[in-house]
Amino acid sequence: MAAIELRGLTKVYPGGVKALDALDLVIPDGEFFALLGPSGCGKTTLLRTIAGLETATGGAVVIGGRDVTGVQPGGRDVAMVFQDYALFPHMDVTDNIAYPLRIKKVPKGTRREKAAEVGARLGLEHLMDRRPGQLSGGQQQRVALARVMATQAQAYLFDEPLSNLDARLRLEARTFLKKLQRELGVTTVFVTHDQAEALAMADRMAVMEAGHIRQIGTPSEVFQRPANTFVAAFIGSTPMNLLDGIVRGDTLEVAGCKVAVPDSAAGLLSDGEQIVYGVRPEYLAYSAEPADGAFGGKVAIVENLGAAHLVTLDVGGVSVQAVVPEGSEPAVGDDGFALPRRDRALIYRNGELV
Ligand code: ADP
Ligand code: MG
Repeated sequence: MAAIELRGLTKVYPGGVKALDALDLVIPDGEFFALLGPSGCGKTTLLRTIAGLETATGGAVVIGGRDVTGVQPGGRDVAMVFQDYALFPHMDVTDNIAYPLRIKKVPKGTRREKAAEVGARLGLEHLMDRRPGQLSGGQQQRVALARVMATQAQAYLFDEPLSNLDARLRLEARTFLKKLQRELGVTTVFVTHDQAEALAMADRMAVMEAGHIRQIGTPSEVFQRPANTFVAAFIGSTPMNLLDGIVRGDTLEVAGCKVAVPDSAAGLLSDGEQIVYGVRPEYLAYSAEPADGAFGGKVAIVENLGAAHLVTLDVGGVSVQAVVPEGSEPAVGDDGFALPRRDRALIYRNGELV
C-alpha cells in the first residue's frame, strides 16, 4: 500500500494531442480517490500513465515514495481493472482469478487457494468452476475485481469498472466495491464519467477538463463549493443554475430580479461588476406567492424526478430551475417564485468562485 504522487505529469500523444497538461496530484496511502470528467478529458491516459502502460512526456510518477517514471508496468506494483473485464472465455473462474499469479509463477496449489479466498470474499464461491459465458454481467465484473485483488498490489487503478452494468447492479457494485476497498485499505484511483458514482464512493475526488484538473476536494466540497463554472455545471444530478448578473450596491440584479448577495460573497463584490450567480435547483424555495429576493416568472416546464419535481421558470427569457417537493408542484403557465438560499448560493467572477 502506498501513496501516489504526480509531479507536473504531462502526456502528449504522437500527433500532438496533449492529454495531460502538467498535472500535480497527491493521493495519500489508503485513499479512495475518484477521477471524474467528460469523455476525452484524459482520465484513461492518466491511469495508464500511472500504471506505466503509457510513457510520460514530462514530469514524474511517484508510488510509495519511489520514482517509477522510467519503470516498466511490471515493476510498479499496481493493478489495473479495465472497462471491459477482459476475462479469458476458455478458463473457469478459478483460473481467471489466478491468472496473474500464474504469470508470476506462483505454484498451482497456492494459486488455487488464493483464488478461492478472494473468490469467497467477492461472493463467488459457488461459481468457481464456471466459465465467463455462464455468468451474468455483474458476476463477470466481480471476477475481474477478484483477479485484480488476487494480486497483492500497492495500488488499484479502476477505469470505469461499473460502466457495463445495468443501473441496479451498478448501485450494488458501488456499495460493494467501496466496502471492499475500506476493508483492504489499498490506495485506489477510480475513474468514472458518472458524477453520482464519484460523489457516492470517493474519499476525495478530482474533476478534469481537457488534460487539466479543475478541482480537487472531498465530494461535499466539490458539490457545495464548485471552484469554477465548469465544475459547477458538471456536478449535480440537476445542473446548477448559472445566471449572468450585475452588482447593484449591496444587492444583485440577476435575470432582471433583485437578489441578495450570497453569504459567501458578502463584502467581496464591487458595485457595477459583472458576475455569474450560481445556485443549485435544490436550494431554491418555490412558491406561488411573490417574495423579496425571489426569481419570479412563468412556469415553462415541470419534470417528474420521482420524489420531487424539477420546475423550470421562464424569468424574463432566462431559465431558472427549482426542485419542488412532490405534491406542491405547479402547472405549466402558472406564475411562480423561487427564493434562493443565501447560505448556499455562490458567486463566480471570470469563471472562478469568489
Ligand atoms: P477519457 O478516458 O477521459 O475519455 P482519454 O485519456 O482516453 O480520455 O483521451 C484523452 C485524449 O487523448 C483524447 O483527446 C483522446 O482522443 C486522446 N488519445 C487517447 N489515446 C490516444 C492515442 N493512443 N493516440 C492519440 N491520441 C489519444
Ligand atoms: Mg476513458
